[in-house]
Amino acid sequence: MNKEEGIYIELEVEFSSAHSLPYNYSKKCSNTHGHNYTARVRFRYTIPDRVKYIDKHILEDIIKKVLDSKYDHKDINRTVFGNNKLPSTAENIATQLYEDINTELQNTEYKNYIELIQIELNEVKDFTVIYKIK
Ligand SMILES: [Zn+2]
Repeated sequence: MNKEEGIYIELEVEFSSAHSLPYNYSKKCSNTHGHNYTARVRFRYTIPDRVKYIDKHILEDIIKKVLDSKYDHKDINRTVFGNNKLPSTAENIATQLYEDINTELQNTEYKNYIELIQIELNEVKDFTVIYKIK
């Protein structure tokens, strides 16, 4: 079996956040504004020969817990990026979303056979950022 062969699961979620970018990144985006983000969260079974089923609601709950606490209907410059320590670009949001969901996953028994491998984030419909670990 090659490294990419196996069973993958992908969940799509939406969340709405306010943010702004530093003036030197974008004059227009330096004003606080909002986006309806779409994230596709991809997991991979690490032992697909033994695990044949996973309750999708458990993965949904992990993602929802993260989104509800820091992202959805929040000013992410503050709640995710600690008062602008990092700019809230789509690239940084995808990376941080990976870190946050993975941390939550590591608190469950699923960590033993499910791996978070990719976050695909749309800030607007025609602009996709992908954070991928393999
Ligand atoms: Zn924006």
